[in-house]
Amino acid sequence: MDISYILNILGEERSDYFDAVTPPIVQTSNFAFKTVADFKAAIAQEKNAHLYTRGNNPTTEIVRKKIAALEGAEDCLIFSSGAAAISSVLLYTLKSGDHVVCVRSPYSWTHFLLTQIFTRFQVETTFVDGRDTSLIEAAVKPNTKLIYLESPNTFAFELQDLSAICRFAQSKQIFTAIDNSYSGGLYQQAHTMGVDFIIHTATKYLAGHSDVVAGAVCGKQAHMDVLFREIFMAFGAVPSPHDSWLLLRGLRTLPLRLQKSAENAERIIQHYEKHPDIQEIIYPYHPSHPQYELAKKQMVRGSGLFAMVLRTGDYLKTEAFCNRLQRFLLAVSWGGYESLVVPASIKENSELPVGYVRFYAGLEEADVLIADIEQALLCLHDEA
Ligand SMILES: *Cc1c(COP(=O)(O)O)cnc(C)c1O
Repeated sequence: MDISYILNILGEERSDYFDAVTPPIVQTSNFAFKTVADFKAAIAQEKNAHLYTRGNNPTTEIVRKKIAALEGAEDCLIFSSGAAAISSVLLYTLKSGDHVVCVRSPYSWTHFLLTQIFTRFQVETTFVDGRDTSLIEAAVKPNTKLIYLESPNTFAFELQDLSAICRFAQSKQIFTAIDNSYSGGLYQQAHTMGVDFIIHTATKYLAGHSDVVAGAVCGKQAHMDVLFREIFMAFGAVPSPHDSWLLLRGLRTLPLRLQKSAENAERIIQHYEKHPDIQEIIYPYHPSHPQYELAKKQMVRGSGLFAMVLRTGDYLKTEAFCNRLQRFLLAVSWGGYESLVVPASIKENSELPVGYVRFYAGLEEADVLIADIEQALLCLHDEA
């Protein structure tokens, strides 16, 4: 894959906009035609025409082409959030009476959609431990329409064998979808392993600057044409041209940011893997991870998200550790320039260990992050 071609050139037609190096923000809702014939032609193929910004917009279109190419997919649609991207794939693939097999502990709002919203429309979901492909196969029923994957997921860091699951799903004519956000668009090409719908929260690594909320779905042309016509246009969750432009700007530096974030995670893990205050490190691309071999098979690399379990039986100590960090911010999301932590106690009903802290390594110097953790760990030894 020629990544710099995709990120610097693909989809950009400079002669269309005064030969400006950077494409403009085409901040318009609608486009005018010279003739009724042209008008009709645009309506007939709205997905790629410039007719109305709820369907397509020149700034957004550049981003669509680039993200599709990064994923090795034929087409991509950009949404106003990752949650809208997830909802749209569910709306497209499911109807009343259908059944879904979903990995256990997917992204929290995916879980909410399946358990609280789609149940209203008689769509039933079975959640399974996706680390074991045979459990996914065993959960399939005659009315199963979708196998929903998230590999790795972003708290437990569990993987699924994508090629094996897709082979099985194809033999049963069941759709597959994956939330591929962890790998940031570069470290796992799920579409080439056979997954039908590749979902991203573009809010995280793809945009990368903690200033945009957006999402993406990639897949085959035939699927994306129907997804566009039946769901995308009617659901209407489109990004503003300005947000698409920010996403485009973020994409320019995606390989550098992802590399730095992953390197920082690796450096922190290397430093703390034998530390007496750390009970466990959870990182898919680490030899201690039970699915390390599968990770090496289907991922290029780990990213900047990982977890460490502090050696404590007291969640107040874990919270004190997080409070004491200076350079890791206490905030949701990830994939931006800034390092972040989330302790287990933030998540309701979680089965995560008491000492669990989810880390996102941003773009700071690794030594600064390592030192920050070191000073915060001292709180584990404070008198109560
Ligand atoms: C943040 C996130 C989402 C949701 O994306 P939004 O852009 O916030 O709607 C979905 N999946 C994963 C894994 C996420 O981390």
